[in-house]
Amino acid sequence: MSRRRSWWGWGWEDAAVTGDELERLAAMLAAFLGDPGRSRDAPEPGALRLPAPRVRPPGALAGLAEASDEARALHSHGQSLGDIVAALEGDLDAVCDLVMRPTDGAGVAAVLDWCSSANVAAVPFGGGTSVVGGVTPRVGDGYAGVVSLDLRGLDRVLEVDTVSRAARVEAGILGPALEEALRPHGLTVRHQPQSYEFASVGGWLATRSAGHHSTLHTHIDDRVEGMRAVTPRGTLESRRLPGSGAGPSPDRLLLGSEGALAVITEAWLRLVARPVHRAQAAVRFGGFTAGAAAARAVGQSGLYPATCRLIDATEAMINRIGDGSASVLLLGFESADHPVDADLTRGLELCADHGGSADPPTARDDAAGSWRSAFIRLPYVRDAVIRLGHIVETFETAITWDRFEDLWRTVSDRAGGAVAEVCGAGVVTCRLTHVYPDGCAPYFTVIARSRHGDQRAQWAQVKAAASEAILAAGGTITHHHAVGRDHRPWYDRQRPQLTADALAAAKRALDPAWILNPGVLLDAPGSQSSPT
Ligand SMILES: Cc1cc2nc3c(=O)[nH]c(=O)nc-3n(C[C@H](O)[C@H](O)[C@H](O)COP(=O)(O)OP(=O)(O)OC[C@H]3O[C@@H](n4cnc5c(N)ncnc54)[C@H](O)[C@@H]3O)c2cc1C
Repeated sequence: MSRRRSWWGWGWEDAAVTGDELERLAAMLAAFLGDPGRSRDAPEPGALRLPAPRVRPPGALAGLAEASDEARALHSHGQSLGDIVAALEGDLDAVCDLVMRPTDGAGVAAVLDWCSSANVAAVPFGGGTSVVGGVTPRVGDGYAGVVSLDLRGLDRVLEVDTVSRAARVEAGILGPALEEALRPHGLTVRHQPQSYEFASVGGWLATRSAGHHSTLHTHIDDRVEGMRAVTPRGTLESRRLPGSGAGPSPDRLLLGSEGALAVITEAWLRLVARPVHRAQAAVRFGGFTAGAAAARAVGQSGLYPATCRLIDATEAMINRIGDGSASVLLLGFESADHPVDADLTRGLELCADHGGSADPPTARDDAAGSWRSAFIRLPYVRDAVIRLGHIVETFETAITWDRFEDLWRTVSDRAGGAVAEVCGAGVVTCRLTHVYPDGCAPYFTVIARSRHGDQRAQWAQVKAAASEAILAAGGTITHHHAVGRDHRPWYDRQRPQLTADALAAAKRALDPAWILNPGVLLDAPGSQSSPT
């Protein structure tokens, strides 16, 4: 029997948190927040009373179009807290008129031709896992309609070059199908964001996603050899190369373009051999900053562990890898070529220099295993907390090491203060998800008391306080969640004005009718479609 995707929240409908698991979660929230909450269910899509579609495609494209309530509702939001609450409340921010489902580049080009000539906005949709409003069809009033351009039909691996270790893949393929196709070759892209199961290659490229590997090639940018994209002006294809000094990189123009410049249809991705040697350990530190000093030492050592994730004491406790008294650094090495035990030994010595104490060798796989299971289940648990009426959401940034401690303290204090003031009770936790020689990516989780009807407004206040603190402390508004519509007010302040001007000029050159994802990265001329 085929499984059904949830139209309102994360993943498979049948994997939602229910029964005993939901009761245990409510009891935990009662202990943490003083209120177990009250679970609500999402309405059926048919009960949403969606407005009738305002546009109809020409006959030749009719076969690609779908206008069912379920398809339109599912394609009208991503997976942020605001998206999920809006869906649960049956109050979607904006609704696409149609879902268009091309299955090749020519189909994408035909849809863009129609949209350009009929003044219809087109929002590229890969897996729909955006947490920043990237796929929400909030495009302003200047369009006759808006379609969601679902790219899941472009889902093939077209070529595997085992000599150079690269594959040509279509952009709509999701993580698991891609890895399944590469497995017989003993190769992997080695790029696994937490959303991997439901996110697409095109979405990764368009948002510059980061995988769960903590060092070295963490961003998808590093895995790209070449790309093919369809724009309203024609096809843009870069040459497949291992490296090139020929002027500004055409791939860099598309990476992070978030559907506002082009629709990515194919990419050549670099592959690596599947690792067979592994060694891992959990190291405990009395304080988060001592753990961060160890993470920095490891990051600057040239060891490049696959996992170097520092989790603060509260988050370690919530994820059952600690008792709340110590921060935990998960350190793991892997290789397809050679044993990595010596690397782990050296990594543990660096941790010991900063006061870290490693779990005994008999327990080495336990913490990593518990973390992995919690990590995969987390998005379902998150939806359940939201269904209970509380707040759980994350935000992330990156900062150089010299300013890390100040940013961590400032952001934790301001976000914690906002939670106390706005919600009355809650916690702000932090982990370092990625570690570079010159800095790190702090990732914050907020769990706060709320109630149905208040969640969105309360979260907006906490998020604004956190975002202001990040910018003031010199961080980026996003390390890997992208800009979308939700980060625009802070992205616009972070971005140099001349970069904004150059981006707008590129948009005018590629998308003269300005139909591609208006409001993401740039507003439509004369409109203000992003929140201020
Ligand atoms: C539970 C959860 C965990 C997450 N974990 C991570 C993580 O570990 N790392 C990380 O980086 N992100 C993470 N994210 C965010 C999100 O999964 C990423 O941004 C991901 O890359 C989006 O892929 P997608 O296919 O779902 O894109 P979508 O959500 O469909 O689209 C995202 C943006 O890209 C555009 N787009 C999509 N496909 C194309 C295309 N082919 N051509 C042009 N534009 C396109 C869209 O218009 C939109 O602006 C997480 C999200 C959730 C909900």
